[in-house]
Amino acid sequence: MIAAQQVCVLGATGSIGLSTLDVIARHPDRYQVFALSGFSRLAELQALCLRFRPCFAVAPDALAARQLQEALHGAGLSTRVLFGEAGLCEVAAHPEVDSVMAAIVGAAGLKPTLAAVEAGKKVLLANKEALVMSGALFMQAVRRSGALLLPIDSEHNAIFQCLPGDYSRGLAQVGVRRVLLTASGGPFRETPLEQLADVSPEQACAHPNWSMGRKISVDSASMMNKGLELIEACWLFDAAPAQIEVVIHPQSVIHSLVDYVDGSVLAQLGNPDMRTPISHALAWPQRIDSGVPPLDLFAVARLDFQAPDEQRFPCLRLARQAAEAGGTAPAMLNAANEVAVAAFLDRRLRFPEIASMIDSVLNAESAVAVESIDAVMAADRRARERAGQWLSRHG
Ligand code: NAD
Ligand code: MG
Repeated sequence: MIAAQQVCVLGATGSIGLSTLDVIARHPDRYQVFALSGFSRLAELQALCLRFRPCFAVAPDALAARQLQEALHGAGLSTRVLFGEAGLCEVAAHPEVDSVMAAIVGAAGLKPTLAAVEAGKKVLLANKEALVMSGALFMQAVRRSGALLLPIDSEHNAIFQCLPGDYSRGLAQVGVRRVLLTASGGPFRETPLEQLADVSPEQACAHPNWSMGRKISVDSASMMNKGLELIEACWLFDAAPAQIEVVIHPQSVIHSLVDYVDGSVLAQLGNPDMRTPISHALAWPQRIDSGVPPLDLFAVARLDFQAPDEQRFPCLRLARQAAEAGGTAPAMLNAANEVAVAAFLDRRLRFPEIASMIDSVLNAESAVAVESIDAVMAADRRARERAGQWLSRHG
């Protein structure tokens, strides 16, 4: 019998983390949980540790780590509890780990995800912000270490499935004309524009097709999520921004498409359930049961497509501009967006102001090339400061 893969789940208490654990629990002979991390829902983290009995758990700080450590010891577990970014990096790069699910949300996931990449792990990338921020450096680290990077984002996983195995030779070399990135259009696809100033966080988080964490739900409503995904796709598939077209497809059944020069268009379809891309990446190049019910095309009945409206979704234009500018621009876009989304969720910012704030932060400084992760983090900090200043001026 082949030894089970040791999996480290960063962001285990989140939406992607829990879906990952659901798939793992279906295949106890193939996957074992080596480490779990959580940041805010600590009771859930404890319950997950009791269920999956990992070798390591990572808590946000020393106090939380001590409490979790005592509770787990009390329950007879030998799990070691670490904390903070250093703890996350340690488990991500641990010699006994085979696969790392990078499912922390936002810039907080950058260093741990990079630690997994640098240690040459199989990295299942959900944390798109990490790649968006540090693109060139991240991909250089993948090549240097020989890490296997597999996309979890449903669109990128779909594109990966529709590309030939040797696509890293270059998209033109393998006959790709365009990549079509599908987007649902989110909850405000048809909301009258004048009502957008009054939408609430609850409305923004009520996604029509997907159940996700709050940050990515707001990103989907503003379509900044698609903008981040455009940048993510450029790095994953070595594509120019102009080779990637965004298509609104409200049913979220086609997860993305690849258009070839001979006129063939390949698509990946499935129910909108993240357990499909998670299972695909966990088992790649094999296939395993994910628990996702078969797609019922008769129930779907129709597939619609429309072009995105830039007036409704200015974040998409801002992200495309940042992709074209390159260098520090995507990190600044991402940081300003994180501040804007947190302020919107806190009711300190109106929905349309998310784009206004990001626009102002991006205009404050021109993009420069990035030579180190420290330079990326410095750009991230400057953008957060400027976003904070914008908030105090407009709050
Ligand atoms: P979530 O909010 O449900 O979970 C986030 C996880 O990260 C939690 O475990 C949380 O404890 C942890 N976390 C938050 N802040 C942290 C910090 N400062 N330090 C360490 N850990 C921290 O988010 P999610 O929806 O699961 O999304 C996770 C990532 O996956 C995001 O980058 C998102 O864009 C991406 N993604 C999610 C989906 C989806 O369907 N949910 C789809 C595609 C991509
Ligand atoms: Mg996606």
